[in-house]
Amino acid sequence: MKRYEPPEGWVVQAYRFALDPSDVQVLGLRRNSGAARFVYNYMLGRVSAVKAQRAAEASYGVAEADLTPWQGWSLPELRRTWNEIKQWVAPWWAQCSKEAFNTGLANLSAALGNWHASRAGARKGRRMGFPRVKKKQGRRSVRFTTGAIRVEADYRHVVLPRLGRIRTHESTRKLARRVRAGTATILSATVTETAGRWFCSFQVAVGRTVGRPAHAPKAGLVVGVDAGIRHLAVLCTGEMVPNPAPLKAALNKLGKAQRRAARRVGPYDPATGRKQAPSHRWQRAQHAVARLHATVCAVRADSWHQLTTRLAQQFTTIVVEDLHVAGMMRNRKLARSLTDAAPATLRRHLGYKTGWYGSTLYVADRWYPSSKTCSACQTVKPKLSLAERMFHCTMCGLSLDRDVNAARNLAALVRHVDLELPGDAKTGRGAYVRPARPASAGGAAGREASRPVQPVNVARQQATANHESRLLTER
Ligand SMILES: [Zn+2]
Repeated sequence: MKRYEPPEGWVVQAYRFALDPSDVQVLGLRRNSGAARFVYNYMLGRVSAVKAQRAAEASYGVAEADLTPWQGWSLPELRRTWNEIKQWVAPWWAQCSKEAFNTGLANLSAALGNWHASRAGARKGRRMGFPRVKKKQGRRSVRFTTGAIRVEADYRHVVLPRLGRIRTHESTRKLARRVRAGTATILSATVTETAGRWFCSFQVAVGRTVGRPAHAPKAGLVVGVDAGIRHLAVLCTGEMVPNPAPLKAALNKLGKAQRRAARRVGPYDPATGRKQAPSHRWQRAQHAVARLHATVCAVRADSWHQLTTRLAQQFTTIVVEDLHVAGMMRNRKLARSLTDAAPATLRRHLGYKTGWYGSTLYVADRWYPSSKTCSACQTVKPKLSLAERMFHCTMCGLSLDRDVNAARNLAALVRHVDLELPGDAKTGRGAYVRPARPASAGGAAGREASRPVQPVNVARQQATANHESRLLTER
């Protein structure tokens, strides 16, 4: 499908607001998100049935021309078929927005496309399986791309097609003011239910004035940031940003809530393993678990947003490490704390926020020994265990916190590059610093797009960065 390209100098980003819909509106939201699920499942069944039927016919020796007609899975093909059959398979279709059916068909088209591309080897990343049926208990979501989509001037309501005016739980001022000033255009709106709370996320093209906002004080030129578990991040200035570890904080409550749910009548009979109708009390208990998880998620996201916004606004150049989190997750002792801190968020957030505020992000090579190098005399230690919290240099006698030492090394990388040769990314110490690739509009790296970060020397850096296939080494 053709991807939307925002005008020059504009970025695509999301504005998300919690909603306070009335009971009637909740029914409308559920009806439309349910329709999206229904059409997804129905057409998925049809695609796989046609596929199986054709395979069977071919095995009987039926001629190619006489086979059951193929069901294509491009969005126009799916839509055409759906419009022909909807009056029989979904006689209630007129009660829902056409956007609801479009949501389901577009998602199905993308899912089948991903599966096909993955099988053909045309898609990066993990192998994608054949799409599965969406369950009723799954996340409810529907996306509106046309029709009356807007935020009201009172800052407290959003308007969506077929659903009408819905009260928001929080102020929509930030978006409404931009729309009024003509520096924002709403492209689409997605309503989603998370742990019983409905959210409306607007996809917006925004004309940002790139640069440091007037209210943000200037803190310095270059900052090296070391993301970790003990602290969310350690800056080369010596500042240690505390890690709220929200999952760890909620573990007791979660255990309690899950034990309570386990004592109630759930969807399976533990004695026979048979399916059964879960009790209302079980559903309430499940809801409590979901709310705890939603809080954990919100606390984590907030800490990262506060830190990364501050960094992107107050520093001109930010240097981070390319973390191999997936590799570190294989360490079972670290896995839970790692997910709780989510250190890769640092780079993901800075990737687009540096574009918003006119700063530059540098990502140090994954194999650069930032922790093992002495920030004073550049001696590299052969070994540094994770238990050693202090860095002691045997050569020059430097002694400081290991994370501050690492952050200082990261900051020094860019000073080195900028001073020495503004065209060469290779520093004298065998580390490669490359500017971060910006996320594309609506791309997989995030819904947000950013202005391209000005590269130092793209061609040369890509050549040097192509050797990333070594195994993860202990730093
Ligand atoms: Zn030293």
